[in-house]
Amino acid sequence: MDMKEKLEQMKAEALEQIHAENADLEQIKIRYLGKKGELTAVLRGMGALSNEERPKIGQLANEIRANIEAAIAKKAQEIQSKALDLKLRSERLDVTMPAKPLPAGHLHPLTQVQRQLEEIFIGMGFSIVEGPEVELDYYNFQALNIPKDHPARDTQDTFYITDNILLRSQTSPVQVRTMEHRKPPIRIISPGRVYRSDALDSTHSPLFHQLEGLVVDEGITMGDLKGTLEVFAKKMFGESTRIRFRPHHFPFTEPSAEVDVSCFVCGGSGCRLCKGEGWIEILGAGMVHPFVLSNCDIDPEKYSGFAFGLGIERIAMASLGIDDIRLFYENDQRFLSQF
Ligand SMILES: [Zn+2]
Repeated sequence: MDMKEKLEQMKAEALEQIHAENADLEQIKIRYLGKKGELTAVLRGMGALSNEERPKIGQLANEIRANIEAAIAKKAQEIQSKALDLKLRSERLDVTMPAKPLPAGHLHPLTQVQRQLEEIFIGMGFSIVEGPEVELDYYNFQALNIPKDHPARDTQDTFYITDNILLRSQTSPVQVRTMEHRKPPIRIISPGRVYRSDALDSTHSPLFHQLEGLVVDEGITMGDLKGTLEVFAKKMFGESTRIRFRPHHFPFTEPSAEVDVSCFVCGGSGCRLCKGEGWIEILGAGMVHPFVLSNCDIDPEKYSGFAFGLGIERIAMASLGIDDIRLFYENDQRFLSQF
């Protein structure tokens, strides 16, 4: 075989390999055009050729080199555009496809329970009144019949800003502020944050929420209080719920009572929630102390009233089956998303 035939055959082989389905272009390039490649080897043998033949073979070899290079470049482009095409097709955006749903949060369980409570009392004719969380000692304690040396201050120790300014330990100051500015008939609830200097544990938090109610008018009796709380309990915990008053002492009401509802899990026979008692304590209540009415320029001879106060966390924990108050404030999605 002479050198020309050898070159033509090499070209045919190279092109065939380039056009093959899974051509390894880099490998082909090295094999034919590389420093130790086949074409290079042929050119190296050119010294043996006659002076006549040498330029012809040289030219042919250069043409073949150019052919192979062009074929490789063309194939490389084909491979690239094929890959791009595939990529585009796989990443095509279907604008008619329905969107992925966005997680839209919901109200915090405490807010849910607070709104539920508010709705029940609004339904009974109460209106909502709010007051400052940074409060004067007078409204938080003194006007509520709790002077500076009263032992009730121990159980309601709070955070003081000055000797006379504090974070309210209860929502009761809103009652006093309301009675100062409005004359009877008064029928209000005041929900909101309150503070105590308690250490955080499973049942105590330095910040929690209360909801208080106040009714003042002529001829208000303990019977009105009982009726109101009974309606509330049935709406909140179910129609079969009963309530029970136990005598208690609060400085700002007389007489005072702690109020229990029959356990809404076991109905009164005793279970884990009610700790076998059949009853769950939910709030404190009583007839507004004449001293408190007088403090607000309301004549206790003419008017009487009742007040009640409950902890929103306590109601939420009982009704939602939560046994650790800290869960409300940790903002852990795994907890919050359950409600
Ligand atoms: Zn029970």
